[in-house]
Amino acid sequence: MNYTEGQDKDSKNQNMAGSVILSPDLKFIRDIKRLGGETVKKCYQCATCSGICPLSSENSPFPRKEMIMTQLGMKNELFRDSDIWYCHNCNDCSKLCPRGARPGDILGALRAKFIMENSVPRFLGKIVTNPSYTLFAFFIPAFLLFAILVSLGHLSIPDGKIVYSRLFPVESIDLFFSSFVAISLIMYIISLRRFWLRLRKEDNPQTERFGKALIQAVAEFLLHRKFSKCDVNSDRKNGHLMVFYGFVGLFITTSWVAFYYWFFHINTPISLGDPLKWVANTSALLLIIGTLILIANRLKDKNVNSRSSSFDWTFAIIVLLIGLTGLSTEIVRLINITDLAYPLYFIHLLFVFYIIVYFPYSKLAHFGYRLLAITFHKMAGTDVT
Ligand code: SF4
Ligand code: SF4
Repeated sequence: MNYTEGQDKDSKNQNMAGSVILSPDLKFIRDIKRLGGETVKKCYQCATCSGICPLSSENSPFPRKEMIMTQLGMKNELFRDSDIWYCHNCNDCSKLCPRGARPGDILGALRAKFIMENSVPRFLGKIVTNPSYTLFAFFIPAFLLFAILVSLGHLSIPDGKIVYSRLFPVESIDLFFSSFVAISLIMYIISLRRFWLRLRKEDNPQTERFGKALIQAVAEFLLHRKFSKCDVNSDRKNGHLMVFYGFVGLFITTSWVAFYYWFFHINTPISLGDPLKWVANTSALLLIIGTLILIANRLKDKNVNSRSSSFDWTFAIIVLLIGLTGLSTEIVRLINITDLAYPLYFIHLLFVFYIIVYFPYSKLAHFGYRLLAITFHKMAGTDVT
């Protein structure tokens, strides 16, 4: 066996006699340990995890094979493995592993590493997936938004009734966010395409058409059917569903506000009696309550080590803060605390930027990768329904 440092080419080569030479990528193994996979070497391949995983099938078992591939540093093989994204992080396997190797955490670390390396541009993947750079990630929108205020000459708190568009006019804030979100969306589509092209199609003959499989995967995703199979974290389904529909509701209301402004010239603040406000406030509450359920769920697991969860924790806290600052901006506007309202609105916009512009590089990126992984399994006939 050859051991090399940070090699880029395939870690598995075949020599002319047909024997297999494994050349582990040691940097990759170190990175997985740093991202929360410290326990990977404890695995002794008993296969209990593949036996109890509710999504593992006879034809496509996991996560035992991912454990040995990670121990051997087979980065390229792992990055072509749909099972890393098919896993929905229920952690049933981690609870029952007799060696405490926590395969669920290893798959989580592999997903973070994949986002880091598959992102376009890659440096944003490195910044957003690494909690040490979170402050820098916020500095970028803070600088850009401050530059807008300077260009508009809006450097003091407006007098009179609180109207947030007096700080950032709708035209400038809509142009700012829509431009960045459009760029992020294009980058995300490129990353998803790369992932799809990587999947090991030659090992999995496809029996179903892409379009049909994708529609079935979306339907399953909307109902979170696979989450019902969780044993250890059965209450995680409700939290995840609330966060998911909270985001959907906030996306709808943001588009609704733009529609009101550009087609009917209705400006913010919108009246509390307007259906738009009901949807917006309900969505914010769903987001906050759902995130609190997910946080409580993680706190229950005494074995979650701080490193494995730092990527998840950072994201969960930012989601919670976007909900809390969103609701707070409304409350301080209603009770008319001008000095607090505008700074709070500025901070809220930083969280909005983090969530909607950085989404291809954050935990939110799992949405598309997981959807494609389910689609892939459906096409290959290995989906567990
Ligand atoms: S991760 Fe644990 S349960 Fe799975 S094969 Fe290794 S030792 Fe066995
Ligand atoms: S975390 Fe859950 S879905 Fe993922 S491999 Fe373990 S048992 Fe399977």
